[in-house]
Amino acid sequence: MATSPQDAAPLVRFERVNKWFGTQHVLRDIDLAIQPGERVVLCGPSGSGKSTLLRCVNRLESFEEGRLTVDGVVFEPGRRDAEGALRALRRRIGMVFQQFNLFPHLTVLENLALGPELAGEPRAQVRERALAQLERVRVAEQASKYPLQLSGGQQQRVAIARALVQAPRLLLFDEPTSALDPEMVQEVLDVMRALAEQGQAMLCVTHEMGFARAVADRVVFMDEGQIVEAAPAARFFEAPRRSRTRAFLQRVL
Ligand code: ADP
Ligand code: MG
Repeated sequence: MATSPQDAAPLVRFERVNKWFGTQHVLRDIDLAIQPGERVVLCGPSGSGKSTLLRCVNRLESFEEGRLTVDGVVFEPGRRDAEGALRALRRRIGMVFQQFNLFPHLTVLENLALGPELAGEPRAQVRERALAQLERVRVAEQASKYPLQLSGGQQQRVAIARALVQAPRLLLFDEPTSALDPEMVQEVLDVMRALAEQGQAMLCVTHEMGFARAVADRVVFMDEGQIVEAAPAARFFEAPRRSRTRAFLQRVL
């Protein structure tokens, strides 16, 4: 029987995942699958659970009900993660945060090299790989500077390069342009768009709906811990089916 991309095992699959912070129910029956190479934008009002959902994917958060499979590794509540599986997972899933999270006392190059060097990779090889990723996000000439000597846009591009050094199967972005001065937003979105066009799978929380429309294969809208609507980008923007989605789009577009 012929196989289509839809038959491929998803890279990430949430199955009826539920999570509480104390008594607050923050993820409600989340069902979501992301295919290898897919570009998904996750949007929704503040407090709707977007960051929490994203952080579940690389196990920065746990959950109480349901099942999550990431690149073949199954996570279920009440089962301790195997150390090796977790380390392997974090290597294959890169994450970029709103606040860059670079080490201020390390140079740009050292920030990129730290992870692979700790994993035991030879120094010269790491350096070469790190420089290649800095080229890719167009900050190679800043390699020997410290993060605070760079603009916010440059720092965020360094953070993206750091996530890329491990050749992740999936990149997670949590509002990567929200902390930037307006004039620097575009340079970061341009880098993200280029990565998407090169086939990098990504799950991206953002309010940049222009980016979503241009880059996303699929847009997922969350509200109050639930996925309200998930659709191919064109359909999502041109013909949203839920009134809550329409109300949100009216506010952000
Ligand atoms: P979003 O990213 O969509 O703004 P979050 O996932 O950050 O939403 O938060 C969802 C809900 O969970 C919010 O009500 C938030 O206050 C709460 N929350 C997030 N992180 C924690 C935490 N570590 N402890 C307690 N409550 C949290
Ligand atoms: Mg958030």
